[in-house]
Parts: sequence; structure tokens; C-alpha cells
Amino acid sequence: MVSKTVVTAFQSAGHDHQRCLEDALAYAAETCARRGVRLTRLREQVLRLVWGNHEPVKAYDLLESLRRDHEGAAPPTVYRALDFLLKEGLIHRIESLNAYIGCGDPSSPHTGQFLICRKCNSVAELNDPEIGELIASKTKQIGFKMDHQTIELSGICPKCSG
Ligand SMILES: [Zn+2]
Ligand SMILES: [Zn+2]
Ligand SMILES: [Zn+2]
Repeated sequence: MVSKTVVTAFQSAGHDHQRCLEDALAYAAETCARRGVRLTRLREQVLRLVWGNHEPVKAYDLLESLRRDHEGAAPPTVYRALDFLLKEGLIHRIESLNAYIGCGDPSSPHTGQFLICRKCNSVAELNDPEIGELIASKTKQIGFKMDHQTIELSGICPKCSG
């Protein structure tokens, strides 16, 4: 699979989201199988919930949804599943919102650049190596040892500005 620059585009309101969900689950199954890690039912369920729509989801809301099926689900259950999904690159954390979003291209590890609509909360993801490399080289020039890159842009998506 070739990495895409636009990992997840802004989606129209009437798009076939079932398709997004199925693609995400298929990618996840394939990625986990290739790496020899286990996508347990619970992990898959949390991934499904993160992919509920194209808006970032908070851990607390995931827990609430999970409790509909698993009455006794406790916060550590959700956090452990999220940690696994993050580690495998199946989801990303949106730091500015303290929430999670599914990754449309988990085949290779990447940081991603996130475009967040401040009207409808939907998120698009870019994975443009040029942006990452530029930041790495500029920060190095001023002697900064970067260990983590978070690029989150706030604005208005095409749907909300149209
Ligand atoms: Zn969708
Ligand atoms: Zn991604
Ligand atoms: Zn919007």
C-alpha cells in the first residue's frame, strides 16, 4: 500500500460512512495480522466507536458507549484499548481536544497533520512528509531536539464554508 498525502479528506454529509467504517476495520485487521498482534473484540469495538463519524471522540464518551454492551467496563479497559490502537497507528490523539480520531492509512507509522473544523468538529488528516521534514530541519537549525510533532490546524471545512 502506497502512503497517501491526504489520508482522510473532509467528507460530505451524505457520504457512505458504512464504507469508511468497513475500510477502517479491514485495514486494521490486515495491519494487525501482518504485525502478529491481536485485534481483540474489545479493541475492535473501541476502534469502531472511534470511527463512529469523522469527529474526534473523547475517552469518556467511548466509555459511555462501551458500557451499553459491557456493563462493568472501567476506564482502564478503554485506556488500554486506546493505547493499543495508538501504538499500532490505527487511531491518532488530537492533543488540542484531548480526543481520538481514526487513521485512514495505518499501513505505516506517521505523525500526520490534522485539519479541524471549528464549526462541525470534523477532522481531515494529511500525511505530507515535506511538512514534517521541513519542521525537523528548521528546528534542528536552532538547536532544538524535537521528540514529538503535533500539527493541528483550526479552521472551517468545505462543507461548513459552502
Ligand atoms: Zn465516513
Ligand atoms: Zn494517520
Ligand atoms: Zn465543518
